[in-house]
Amino acid sequence: MNMRTQVGIVGAGPAGLLLAHLLDRCGIESIALEDRGREHIENRVRAGVLEQGTVDTLDEAGVGERMRRQGLVHHGIELSFNGRRHRLNLRELTGGRAITVYGQQEVIKDLINARLDAGGQIFFEVEETSVHDLDTDAPKIRFRKNGEAHEITCDFIGGCDGSHGICRSSIPAGVLNVFERAYPFGWLGILAQSKPPSEELIYCNHPRGFALFSMRSPEITRLYIQCEPDEEIANWPDDRIWQELELRLGVDESIRLEEGTILQKGVTPMRSFVVEPMQFGRLFLAGDAAHIVPPTGAKGLNLAASDVHYAAEALTGFFKRQDNDAIPAYSDKALARVWKSERFSWSLTMLMHRFPDDGAIAARFQEAELDYLMHSEAGLRSIAENYVGLPLDFAEDRPAGARLHAMQAGAGR
Ligand SMILES: Cc1cc2nc3c(=O)[nH]c(=O)nc-3n(C[C@H](O)[C@H](O)[C@H](O)COP(=O)(O)OP(=O)(O)OC[C@H]3O[C@@H](n4cnc5c(N)ncnc54)[C@H](O)[C@@H]3O)c2cc1C
Repeated sequence: MNMRTQVGIVGAGPAGLLLAHLLDRCGIESIALEDRGREHIENRVRAGVLEQGTVDTLDEAGVGERMRRQGLVHHGIELSFNGRRHRLNLRELTGGRAITVYGQQEVIKDLINARLDAGGQIFFEVEETSVHDLDTDAPKIRFRKNGEAHEITCDFIGGCDGSHGICRSSIPAGVLNVFERAYPFGWLGILAQSKPPSEELIYCNHPRGFALFSMRSPEITRLYIQCEPDEEIANWPDDRIWQELELRLGVDESIRLEEGTILQKGVTPMRSFVVEPMQFGRLFLAGDAAHIVPPTGAKGLNLAASDVHYAAEALTGFFKRQDNDAIPAYSDKALARVWKSERFSWSLTMLMHRFPDDGAIAARFQEAELDYLMHSEAGLRSIAENYVGLPLDFAEDRPAGARLHAMQAGAGR
């Protein structure tokens, strides 16, 4: 079967679904393809911290209603060193901005519902997806569904198929520059039916390694423990998980770790990865297809959202204003923000984790850095404004004072 659309989208994760939705609002048609089933992607637990800009984008796109009702708005986070906790007041430090805790799988459900309600096309459980003729005006996507072969002729293709997708690897050899760093540890991620120990996220640097105490709702806690990158999950029975979390949190009377049923656990290796440029011919890469961050700064999902904001802007310029310069500008615009989030995720990872073989001096460096950051207005503000997310137009050439003013003016929108 042959089909035609303006933008063919490979992958129905946050990047692909939000791109389809933003394009639809500008009157640009698309077809999205997803190799997993709808139920699978609607229940896949991954990220859960939304930057202010992501919240604003979802709101402005008309898919923020349930997020506004059920999301948990946080105005602070805590950094803990050896059991001593320091609070960062995000609201005061960023002129009123905040983060919202709302699971990625909930964002996915909202976007799928919005697409299908608007008559949008998403093909789930497709197989053998491939992309062709990327450097022509009529790139194509081929796939199989229920054993039948299909081809979509497009004006553009959105490569939103995550880090193991086929779009990035379909770009000819020699076009992409690859930047990569693997960290010598992974995160054991745990989802548990228990009240989170605090209303805000607690990032812990402890001699035994990093831990993060987060949540998905007031009854469901999301926990992470620094572990070996190739850790066997069998090494982590539930009792050991709770014991280790308690040690790394350094529980005192103001805080209590409540044990509960562990619903899910899994190990994710940590790496920083970026390809440049984020486009080739008529193929745009967006989200994890183009870059990976260590999850310490909670940036992966948020970068997927900002990439597709820029991609939708470029495609709208092309289709609605016949602006031919909009398309080549996409990669530079997206990368300017990607690198700032990559830098922040790397620096928070370096500050909060224990590196094997680094010796006692590394821990002293970390303690000195934290002591400096916590006693410097500039240090605190730098962490806070990166954590809540830099504005989407941050990379535009404006003096710092004007940027701060714009951030404050946009606060709480
Ligand atoms: C296992 C895992 C755990 C994570 N945990 C956290 C976390 O705890 N905290 C945090 O902040 N961030 C986390 N992240 C990062 C965050 O979830 C990602 O940055 C975010 O999902 C990126 O969105 P995306 O749409 O670019 O990619 P994805 O969400 O990966 O979406 C890509 C989609 O494309 C589909 N696809 C792939 N190949 C094909 C194909 N050939 N044809 C059709 N469809 C295809 C995939 O099934 C998927 O649905 C995690 C990521 C992963 C992979």
